Amino acid sequence: MATVAEIFETLEWGPAPEAANPGLDWIKEHQPFGLFIDGGWRKPTSGKYFSSENPSTGKPLAKVAMGNSEDVDAAVAAAKRAFEGWSKTPGHVRARYLYAIARQVQKHSRLLAVLESMDNGKTIRETRDIDIPLVARHFYYHAGWAQLMESELPGMEPLGVVGQIIPWNFPMLMMAWKIAPAIAMGNTVVLKPARYTPLTALAFAEICEEIGLPPGVVNIVTGEAGAVGDRMLEHPDIAKIAFTGSTDVGRHIRKVTAGSGKRISLELGGKSPFIVFDDSDLDSVVEGVVDAIWFNQGQVCCAGSRLLVQEDIADRLIDKLRARMERLRIGDPLDKAVDIGAIVGPVQLAEIKRLVEVGQSEGATLWQPSWACPTEGSFYPPTLFTDVSPASTIAQMEIFGPVLVSMTFRTPAEAVALGNNTRYGLAASVWSENINLALDVASKLKAGTVWINSTNLFDADSGFDGVTDVLAFGLPYLS
Ligand code: NAD
Ligand code: MN
Repeated sequence: MATVAEIFETLEWGPAPEAANPGLDWIKEHQPFGLFIDGGWRKPTSGKYFSSENPSTGKPLAKVAMGNSEDVDAAVAAAKRAFEGWSKTPGHVRARYLYAIARQVQKHSRLLAVLESMDNGKTIRETRDIDIPLVARHFYYHAGWAQLMESELPGMEPLGVVGQIIPWNFPMLMMAWKIAPAIAMGNTVVLKPARYTPLTALAFAEICEEIGLPPGVVNIVTGEAGAVGDRMLEHPDIAKIAFTGSTDVGRHIRKVTAGSGKRISLELGGKSPFIVFDDSDLDSVVEGVVDAIWFNQGQVCCAGSRLLVQEDIADRLIDKLRARMERLRIGDPLDKAVDIGAIVGPVQLAEIKRLVEVGQSEGATLWQPSWACPTEGSFYPPTLFTDVSPASTIAQMEIFGPVLVSMTFRTPAEAVALGNNTRYGLAASVWSENINLALDVASKLKAGTVWINSTNLFDADSGFDGVTDVLAFGLPYLS
């Protein structure tokens, strides 16, 4: 053990682990996990289970039910029955349930943060300070809208049973984004969590039980995309599909539901520009870049993954950035002093490695810190590409990992042209000490959200979507 005096000398970090026990004990008590249908737990019709892994160890974490199309049918039937009562329940009464959910999320926040870290690989720093507090905030906020629905949204009606399909990158937060507005507006839901990260949705089902949410209002069906997802897409009693995930699956959903009368909302990928003018505060910019692309290991749909720097400060900024990258800490996601956790799994890790190789083969220059990643589990170091051409694969394709590509520009017009040189339009970030310049450029960028001198800031009351439609206040769940 180092003495305090020695620690003052070296300024080395010691381990600061959050205890895994609350999560592990909770899993032990519950597994194998069933499906949450009609207010209770049932075994999957298939009789089969799959294991969700801990990406930082590569080891199985929990046994979870392998739902199939029959289970989806049962969940939809329960949601349809529940809709009769729930849609006619006065808004202020529905609000009471949402407030109760929010309070339970806060009460169990430590358990939820630990579970999310273990199941997904993201750091406890983020699950504790961002994911779980925002989950609670979404239920509080939409409880407000349930109360206001009659006076502020007169004549509007809930749609019915909503099928919700979510990704693995912010498992519980994406669940909250989907469930809170839908049930606030009087809909009932069948939700399918992503296969890699089902645990916090199951903990949420338990919260629904605890607060006495009427049976069938929320149903959680875990399982394979094919068996569960595809049945949801074709089910005649599902009025709407709300999806967040990859562009390819989004296209598939659009095709399969075409002509069926189902509504859809699709939140897909991004390759968002992070634009830095030469009058920016460069130290703030460096911290901004860290939050833009190394937040959640870069597995963020609105990650600032394209760094566009004004030419005259590019070398200075890249030097500062490399110095900062050298000091980032990667490792055990449950360690409170770790900056970067694990990639969600071996498949995603292999895809990141593949795209990095493509980047090198297309002539870009790769830079990574000198330190090595843990060898157990799925880790990938923060990575910076320079000498990137705007048309290259890594400048155009979403990598969904801790990989930043940088390019330079000379004039504001060129920054806008480069920024908009993408098939996506999710988010953008603009940095300048000149607010006129920043606002002018922001208005010319094709993105649903533009942050100025900041990045990756979220709140329940600020709509989040692509450039085509920014919707909030539960409107996607009303007709
Ligand atoms: P994914 O599309 O592979 O999976 C998302 C969900 O869809 C999962 O639950 C999956 O099981 C399900 N699914 C897969 N195939 C299906 C099918 N044929 N029918 C029905 N459901 C199916 O994406 P992912 O890898 O889990 O998530 C990463 C992607 O999500 C990234 O591209 C990212 O940009 C995007 N994302 C977008 C937002 C946003 O708000 N726009 C937010 C987070 C993530
Ligand atoms: Mn997992």
